Amino acid sequence: MDENKYPIPSLFRSFLTDKPIENCIMCEKFLLDEGTEYFIEKAFKDDYVEVEYAVCMDCAENMKGTMSKQSIENIENYFRSNMQFMQERFMNFEDDNFDPEKMLSQCAITGTKREDLNEYQIAGFFNGSHLNPATIPFLISGEIAEEINGLLSKETKGEIDGFVDDFIGLPPEWREILKTHRPILI
Ligand SMILES: [Zn+2]
Repeated sequence: MDENKYPIPSLFRSFLTDKPIENCIMCEKFLLDEGTEYFIEKAFKDDYVEVEYAVCMDCAENMKGTMSKQSIENIENYFRSNMQFMQERFMNFEDDNFDPEKMLSQCAITGTKREDLNEYQIAGFFNGSHLNPATIPFLISGEIAEEINGLLSKETKGEIDGFVDDFIGLPPEWREILKTHRPILI
């Protein structure tokens, strides 16, 4: 089992500390214990980190609960129909040569290389201090992130905003971040 463990790719490290992100943005739960599942999303613009956050599974589930069925279906269908491209381009965990860094070198949907993108987002699913094999980490261009955001119903957008607003203890700047960069992995 241990040989299947991949450390957190460097691109997912905290921009400020250059160390793994330690806490859930919403409930501040410590994330680096084995068995604690969470995901990280980051948005880059002109190679600067615009946004980065980690969300634990409990908070992710709560947030998902605010999404309309239609929105969830739209996003699932989107990934399902584009998944083939992802699979053709990338290896998966079962491959001997699996290389998480390689997954992050180009847009998973369009194939555009990272160095040719002004804006992009990355998302990954983790368990403590290693990758969670349930979902491979990926990168999408800013354009595709917009497209995915467009799949959310108006109702869902409002509900996610409301959920974020209601979250006691969340600093105001994070509220804005979560509203303008809605999680794509949830
Ligand atoms: Zn949390």
